[in-house]
Order: sequence, then structure tokens, then C-alpha cells
Amino acid sequence: MNQTPVDARNQILAVVRDFVKREVAPAAADHDRSDTYPHQLVERMKGLGLFGVTTPEEYGGLGLDFTTFALIFEELAKGWMSITGVLGTHSILTHVLANHGSEAQKRRWLPALARGDKRGALAMTEANAGSDVAALETVAQRRGDRYVVNGRKLFITNGRNADLVLLMAKTNPAAQPPHRGISALVVEKGPGLTVGPNVNKLGYRGVDTCELLFQDCPVPAENLVGHEEGRGFRQVMDGLEAGRVNIAARAVGVATAAFEAAIRYAQRRETFGQPISNHQAIQLMLADMATKIRAARLLVIDAAEKKTLGQRCDQEAGMAKLYASEICAQVTLDAMRIHGGVGYLEDLPLARYYRDAPLMIIGEGTNEIQKLVIARSLLRQYAL
Ligand SMILES: Cc1cc2nc3c(=O)[nH]c(=O)nc-3n(C[C@H](O)[C@H](O)[C@H](O)COP(=O)(O)OP(=O)(O)OC[C@H]3O[C@@H](n4cnc5c(N)ncnc54)[C@H](O)[C@@H]3O)c2cc1C
Repeated sequence: MNQTPVDARNQILAVVRDFVKREVAPAAADHDRSDTYPHQLVERMKGLGLFGVTTPEEYGGLGLDFTTFALIFEELAKGWMSITGVLGTHSILTHVLANHGSEAQKRRWLPALARGDKRGALAMTEANAGSDVAALETVAQRRGDRYVVNGRKLFITNGRNADLVLLMAKTNPAAQPPHRGISALVVEKGPGLTVGPNVNKLGYRGVDTCELLFQDCPVPAENLVGHEEGRGFRQVMDGLEAGRVNIAARAVGVATAAFEAAIRYAQRRETFGQPISNHQAIQLMLADMATKIRAARLLVIDAAEKKTLGQRCDQEAGMAKLYASEICAQVTLDAMRIHGGVGYLEDLPLARYYRDAPLMIIGEGTNEIQKLVIARSLLRQYAL
């Protein structure tokens, strides 16, 4: 993938910033409170091409690089983190198809996915397989020209509104090591696939997260990604590197929004006869918050640049996701402290930032798992 010229990057970021200011931020509180899906914003995002940011132009996408992709996620998350959820696992599906799909699969699905006419989800997690993905029990059994899928997937974001589901299932449950028995299939919604009710989340509201139940669900064999069994784990882990970059970028966006609210409030609010921004204790907090955000953003860009070059970036994406999500939780709490009592009210967006922040610690692999991924990569790098 080529790096996006600075002019083109700035142009799309200006458009996204304007969209966030005029449409996303004003609608966020209502959607968050009522936990309703933002159909209208999704239509607008389709028009802006945001469903195909990194999809190559020959398949109808914008063909932009991962740094631009991450900066778009950051801008969107500043207005409302949930809106990035509509694009998150969708982007993992498009990335996996663009990099591991056959030519026929790319031609068949990527253009509609890039337009947002078809939207995507990732179905990986199960009751006994979250961090330990290889323990998944959903089975796709080959019968003639189709697979028959049975299993239950939990916590599937976009599960209700997606048209295509990137499913991880075992085509060889006896394989050793178990991850070699996992394949990735594109499932089009239809008979045999039931969508359960949305789960009730602390934050990240408005975007659907639900259970998907597969009961003798027929999937054409031609929907096996890359037409090769046993490659699903590696294919989806590649997609998750991009996913971790986008989660880290969301964390930077939410932290930035919280910081900007705090620094403005600190200059307005007076105690002991002067703005609280004159108190050194507040200044130290502001300096710490801004430094952490900047460091997180640089880690995001570092990981995104490596992904653009087509290089493995599990270490960099893991570090960006780990650090950005941890500082996001700290910064949103500090912003609340700076606001005093009003920071605790649902009247301001701060409470939402604070509720949204932990998703980035858990989603796309918990931070404990990120540390394992980083350590494994370091041990490879420094192998004796
Ligand atoms: C809002 C939301 C949206 C989601 N969206 C999706 C989605 O779209 N698609 C999807 O497939 N999944 C999705 N998930 C699932 C998410 O990826 C998992 O919840 C996550 O990977 C953790 O898995 P788990 O919940 O089973 O936790 P567990 O794996 O049970 O982990 C529990 C705790 O143990 C720790 N732990 C586990 N193993 C180790 C270890 N080896 N060493 C140290 N600590 C360990 C974990 O870090 C965690 O603290 C979503 C989750 C949420 C909350």
C-alpha cells in the first residue's frame, strides 16, 4: 500500500472534522442515552466513503493508507466513540478480504462493502473463547459444495446491522495445534443464522453488540476466505493488527476530547479568586494529560506506518493499543476531576467519555493479552 500524500490526507481529515462538528457530536448524547443505532449518520458516512478508507481504488475504495485511517478514527471518536464501532469490525473484514481473499471474492464483496451498501461484522468470541481464540467450538463441516455451521458467537458488534459476517470456525476440530483447524468464512445473513438481543453496555452505546446463533447454517464453500482451510487464524490476526490500530486511535480521540473539555473548563472556572488553571496542581494534571495523549498518538502513527508498508506490526499495534487505552481511562478520569462535581453529571459529555474508555482496554484483545503479544514479539526479536 502506498503512503497517502499529505494534501489528500489533510483534505479528507478536514471533511471528517466538519462532519463530526456539525453532525456527529450534536447527535451523540441522544443516541448514547437512548441506545439507538445512528442510521442517519451511517448514511452520511457512506456518502463520505468512510466504509472503504483503506480498500484499494480498483475495488471501489478510497485507497488511503493506515495513518489516514487511524487519524479518521481519532477525529470520529472525538465526537462519539460508538460511531467508530460501526466502521471497526467492518474494516477488519474488508482488510482480510483485500489481503487474503481470492480475486473473485474481492470483486464480489469489496465494492459494496466500500460503499457501505453492505456492512460487515467479525464473529470470533464465544462463551469459552475470548482471549483464547483457538479454543473456539463453532464448527463448519464441509458437505459437498457447502459448509454447515453450528455454534454460538457472543459480543458481536454490528451483528444486527451487518450484512456480511467474517466468521471464525473450526473446519478441523481435531487439528493440533488447534489454531490450525480454524478457517475464516464470509457468511451472508440468511436461514440458519439468528441474531439475539443487543447486550446492555456501560458505554459504547448506540452501536449493536449481540449474540449470533448458527444452527445448521449453510455457507457456500466458495465463501471460504482465500479458498484455503486452516488459514483463518492467521488471516484474522492480520486483520486484528489493523483493528488494534483503530482501537488505539479511538482511545486517542476520546482522551483528546476529554482533555480539550478540561483545559477550557479550567480557564473558566474560578476558585479562591482565580481560574483553577492558575493553580499549579491543575497545571500539572493538564501537562501530564497532554503528554500522554501525544505519546499515544505517536505510537498509533508508528504502528499505522508499519502496517501501510505491509509489514507485520503486532508489537507496534499492541503497544499503541495498550498505551492509548490505558491513558484514555486515566485522562477521562482526570478531566472529570478537573470539572469537580459537574464532571460527574450526565449533562456533560465527560461522563460518556469515562464510560466509553474501558471498551478500548478490553476490545480487540484485552491489554493483558496485548502484553503477551508484545513480549512474544520482543523475544523473537531478541532471540539468542
Ligand atoms: C462491547 C464489546 C464489543 C465486542 N465486540 C466484539 C466483536 O465484534 N467480535 C468479537 O468476536 N468479539 C467482540 N468482543 C469480545 C472481546 O473481544 C472479548 O470480550 C475479549 O477478547 C476478552 O475475552 P473474554 O471476554 O472472554 O475475557 P477472558 O478471555 O475470559 O478474560 C478474562 C480476564 O482474564 C485475562 N486473561 C485471559 N487470558 C490470560 C492470560 N493468558 N494471561 C493473563 N491474563 C489473561 C484477560 O485479560 C481478562 O482480564 C466485544 C466485547 C465487548 C465488551
